[in-house]
Amino acid sequence: MAPTISVVLPVYNERENLDALVDRLIPALRKTIGESFEVLFIDDGSRDGSADLLDAFHARDRRLKVVHFSRNFGHQAALQAGLDEATGDAVVLMDADLQDPPEVLGRFIEHWQQGHEVVYAVRRRRKEGLVKRAAYAAFYRTMKAMAEIDVPLEAGDFCLLDRRVVDTLVGLPERNRFLRGLRSWVGFRQIGVEYERDARHAGESKYTLRKLLRLALSGYIGFSAMPLRAATWLGFVSASAGFMLAIWAVITKLIDIPSPRGWASTVAIFLLVSGVQLFMLGVVGEYLSRVYDEVRSRPLYIVRSRTGVGDEVAVEEEPPVRRAPRR
Ligand code: UDP
Ligand code: MG
Repeated sequence: MAPTISVVLPVYNERENLDALVDRLIPALRKTIGESFEVLFIDDGSRDGSADLLDAFHARDRRLKVVHFSRNFGHQAALQAGLDEATGDAVVLMDADLQDPPEVLGRFIEHWQQGHEVVYAVRRRRKEGLVKRAAYAAFYRTMKAMAEIDVPLEAGDFCLLDRRVVDTLVGLPERNRFLRGLRSWVGFRQIGVEYERDARHAGESKYTLRKLLRLALSGYIGFSAMPLRAATWLGFVSASAGFMLAIWAVITKLIDIPSPRGWASTVAIFLLVSGVQLFMLGVVGEYLSRVYDEVRSRPLYIVRSRTGVGDEVAVEEEPPVRRAPRR
């Protein structure tokens, strides 16, 4: 049987983009892999009519399938659902707003056929605003410096994963998923492919600042204990400073050097030290909240309905294995 490719596309209010997306994606897939593909839309609680449009796609072409979430669970959860439901020998994750050009898929598949198990796209240039670009640059660089794994710079979620990598990722129990970090963490033979990230085809970014911050925090906290360790260092530095200051105060008193005995310095030190403490308490709280989240172990997402997923008449004798929803 020819190897099959699953393309996973998280969709959150992308009505204006879907037609253009399918018109470019299907020919790109046909050109490289022939007819053995499936396209898995994960409707992440869209409220703009995207859901009906996606179901209509399935009515036209049965290889286009949809998983509808019961509400908006976020991009990373949608990607995870895609990995859970995809059946292909390789799975491609990409955005539904045409920022990830479907024409790059050909190069992905080439590398995969040459034996790479993870092919990820590296952005050559971003087409976002200056502030957002600066924030991204700061994030990827600090992440690289702090993380215990080697996270490639400027690599987003756009990638191709071999079946073995998909199964590994699906098996990982953690809930706060920073997929591009986990993808580096699992190893296998990886290769980066440079591409030009286009501007969004239509509409606004669906990543609010809050969602972006959450994602960034998942990255830091999921892959580094550095913020926690910083507490030790900050505490050490401020304690030493306090100690030396105390010695200085004693000496000036003993040998009678006139020195200012001000309020200002006392208050400044007090503010500094309590500020550091509060900040570090926040860091600890951030880890704690993640731990709490993991312990509660609610599912990552809830599926309202599926269109076309799991419909295949099984060719083998065995009934197709239905993957249970994660925990
Ligand atoms: N998305 C999603 N759920 C969300 C936010 C975004 O499924 O809560 C999808 C969105 O429809 C798009 C992809 O994730 O296909 C990337 O989002 P977006 O383009 O808004 O992010 P940006 O490219 O600005 O980082
Ligand atoms: Mg986008």
